[in-house]
Amino acid sequence: MIKETFSPEETFLFGKELGENAKPGEVYTLIGDLGVGKTVLTQGIAKGLDIDEPINSPTFTIVQVYEEGRMPFYHFDVYRIGDIEEMDEIGYEDYFYGQGLTMIEWANLIEEILPDHYKEIKIEKDLEKGFDYRRITINEVEK
Ligand code: ADP
Ligand code: MG
Repeated sequence: MIKETFSPEETFLFGKELGENAKPGEVYTLIGDLGVGKTVLTQGIAKGLDIDEPINSPTFTIVQVYEEGRMPFYHFDVYRIGDIEEMDEIGYEDYFYGQGLTMIEWANLIEEILPDHYKEIKIEKDLEKGFDYRRITINEVEK
């Protein structure tokens, strides 16, 4: 499915809908260039999970865990991962196959350990449609 947004608020609200509809154990991957709106969307998802604390990019921690919402929220940013073994050290399977919502930024870097089924979310700009235009594409992936 494709969702087009024309403001950060709209992207946030779309994220909120995703969060409201998320089910325990789901894995979402999030792809998009710097500044495209990944954090805005993630903040919306967190809101949809009834998480009120601020969501930041987990750049220096690989995973940030939020326990206060409707279900746990595991926010990964694997951009700085050096070796896939670092994921084992973190115990990623407890998150990916746990009872929360897992969201992974830069998931292409850890493709070999992604679960058989996940939701791929891609955000893109199209400057011909304006600075604030974003196209959000969601695909169900079956490996
Ligand atoms: P990323 O996490 O992908 O690097 P951010 O979410 O931190 O990006 O930043 C996105 C920036 O783009 C914000 O400054 C936001 O205000 C702006 N923006 C403009 N239009 C949109 C839109 N339609 N959706 C999301 N963000 C938008
Ligand atoms: Mg970000």
